[in-house]
Amino acid sequence: MRANPKPVALNDLLRQTTALQCELAASVDRVLASGWYILGRECAAFELEFAAYCGVAHCISVANGTDALELALRSLGIGPGDTVATVANAGGYSSTAIHAAGAEPLYIDIDPSSMNMSASDLAARLTPSVRAVIATHLYGRMALLPALLAVTGRAAVPLVEDCAQAHGAAIGGKKAGSWGALACFSFYPTKNLGALGDGGAVTTNNEQLAQRVKSLRQYGWSGKYQCSEYGRNSRMDELQAAILRAKLPHLDGWNARRREIASAYSAALAGQSVECPRDFGESYVAHLYVIRSQARDRVRAALQARGIATDVHYPVPDHLQEAARGTLAATAQLPVTERAAREILTLPCYAELEDGEISSVVGALHALSQEALID
Ligand SMILES: *Cc1c(COP(=O)(O)O)cnc(C)c1O
Repeated sequence: MRANPKPVALNDLLRQTTALQCELAASVDRVLASGWYILGRECAAFELEFAAYCGVAHCISVANGTDALELALRSLGIGPGDTVATVANAGGYSSTAIHAAGAEPLYIDIDPSSMNMSASDLAARLTPSVRAVIATHLYGRMALLPALLAVTGRAAVPLVEDCAQAHGAAIGGKKAGSWGALACFSFYPTKNLGALGDGGAVTTNNEQLAQRVKSLRQYGWSGKYQCSEYGRNSRMDELQAAILRAKLPHLDGWNARRREIASAYSAALAGQSVECPRDFGESYVAHLYVIRSQARDRVRAALQARGIATDVHYPVPDHLQEAARGTLAATAQLPVTERAAREILTLPCYAELEDGEISSVVGALHALSQEALID
């Protein structure tokens, strides 16, 4: 086997920071000089700019994506005794938020081709105790929203979008973050729009829900030192907001580059039995490029031997996690979810990947078929 010239890492955050060095330094300097470091002018401006980008009336910045989910649920009045439907293949963040709100998850199986929530399984499992549905746009692929909203609409249950992997994705020009009663974003550094620390946001078109999230993110205050209900401290800081403002104008370009890389990989896999993304339109922002193979571990080892880093997002479904042991949710029957967890493999796909590295991955994917590893 020919050695790969240079190993290809799954991600390299330093590249984006270096490319934007001047803009980021100017943003940081502006905040340092302002004398105001939490929930100030930068946060307010970012909230307006991100709301406009998503095509919604309100954006409320928070400390991270998991808090965004928890506060969105709490703004809907969800708490102890309530059930929230979600998927078990999306890294466990929604489960954490559901538990933090005091509620219990009900796991819905996934659609085998999109790996997002199955609308028919949602319809089959929905019970009157379900007070909300969280639809995750997994790997940057929009969930099957028209079908899911038809089900939640009939049941009069609010749908909350988890857009943490889907900044900028859209269906028919309507962006992720503008479909649900509320939508939640994370700006963790590796996301399509990433801060230089933690960050998150809730978007909504509903004025009342926006006000409630705003109150909940700051102790439940209705005004300074006036506590109308018990909330959280989940604020964004001015440094992260200023950094996100500098990065937002680049998001569409980065998403286009991610799609280009994803489509080069899928072209290299054409005709092979491995399953891979096939649609590179607006509804996929290639947060993660995930293939499926029954020979996943052999494929992974072969890529590793050629210096190509891979990962599994995510190896253990939520209902099989130790934390779920003994709960009703742990008894969920999710055959499509469990099968996917055994077959999925994530390849390097981020905007700053160099052409030479993409060629290395493409070459390794071609070589895989020659070695008959994928069948
Ligand atoms: C990253 C992520 C989150 C959580 O975001 P944090 O900012 O890390 O709390 C939630 N949902 C999904 C799908 C994610 O990928």
